[in-house]
Amino acid sequence: MNRIPISKPNITDAEKAAVMEVMESGFLAQGPRTALFEEKFARLCEVKHAIAVNNGTCALMIALLANGIGPGDEVITTPFTFMATTNAILFTGAKPVFVDIEPETLNIDPELIEAAITPKTKAILPVHLYGHMCNMDSIQTIADKHNLKIIEDACQSVKAYYKGKYAGSYGTGAFSFYATKNLMTGEGGMITTNNDEVAENCRMIRSHGMKQRYYHDILGYNFRMMDLQAAIGLAQLDRLEAMMVRRRFNAQYLNQHIETVTTPSVQKGCEHVWHQYTIKVNGGRHRDDAVKSLNEAGIDVGIYYPVPVHKQKSIQSFIGDVTMPVSEKMAMQVLSLPVHPLLSEEDLDRIVTEVNKL
Ligand SMILES: *Cc1c(COP(=O)(O)O)cnc(C)c1O
Repeated sequence: MNRIPISKPNITDAEKAAVMEVMESGFLAQGPRTALFEEKFARLCEVKHAIAVNNGTCALMIALLANGIGPGDEVITTPFTFMATTNAILFTGAKPVFVDIEPETLNIDPELIEAAITPKTKAILPVHLYGHMCNMDSIQTIADKHNLKIIEDACQSVKAYYKGKYAGSYGTGAFSFYATKNLMTGEGGMITTNNDEVAENCRMIRSHGMKQRYYHDILGYNFRMMDLQAAIGLAQLDRLEAMMVRRRFNAQYLNQHIETVTTPSVQKGCEHVWHQYTIKVNGGRHRDDAVKSLNEAGIDVGIYYPVPVHKQKSIQSFIGDVTMPVSEKMAMQVLSLPVHPLLSEEDLDRIVTEVNKL
């Protein structure tokens, strides 16, 4: 019996040919492919600017820096995410301030944000987890009222939709093209914005603070994307719609046939892009037993995330003792099933059969 992996890079002859073409062109680093990838990505998200960078973590950090965030500032975010979200804040010198999540969507709970605002708060950094966007109406209202920037962690949510706009178009958006993401370049990232000044700052920070070659106006670094990566991204963009259709089909199949556990919630006005299909194992069942039996049946599953960020050892000295009851509870219940575009109907059937035995 073959194992069903939790994710699988979707690589076709188009990606291979695109990479070979760049190899033969002799232009490997940031160049024309990167510029075209940026142009197409901006159009995809319906934003004015897209700036390609080396990965999603740096996209988040540059987005914060380009919005003027640094030492002495506080950034409100969620502890129920990948560590990169918080590390990006810490590397700017700012302080992460955690707000707990909604139990249904596992996204930041807007009702709890205002209580966390202080005179030092400069931005809200919502994470659109698993491919489902946060409640951006409420977050936008709070940000406007308190004059805060919005930086979206859209690393899992390319083309996710909330009430008329795509992820990355509410504030400054940060995307990841890591090998397991819905659109991938191996490693890679992108920043999106409608603000000309923020876009210019991002471009300068990406390349040693230069506007004109060898004239350095602000502090920057090397965060550039290679044309080799952009070529893979362009080939992936051509197939993104088809890959999204597959993920949606797979998720709907699982929704319709899973009977024994809580399936993911999709809020009104949202289009989920199903980066992860995450069930909650509760009500007397043990999540870790469920993982074991699915693994034994040849199905790989993921726990995103087993330890909330505020409980990680690396950041204790920055934040001290913090309690986030919903995040801590959900970290023990979540379990992500394979939903990637390369699943067959037979795979889906096997997943459903095994989940319904739990
Ligand atoms: C993948 C991911 C990141 C980091 O992206 P990299 O490209 O791996 O640096 C940040 N936040 C979230 C929510 C992610 O899923």
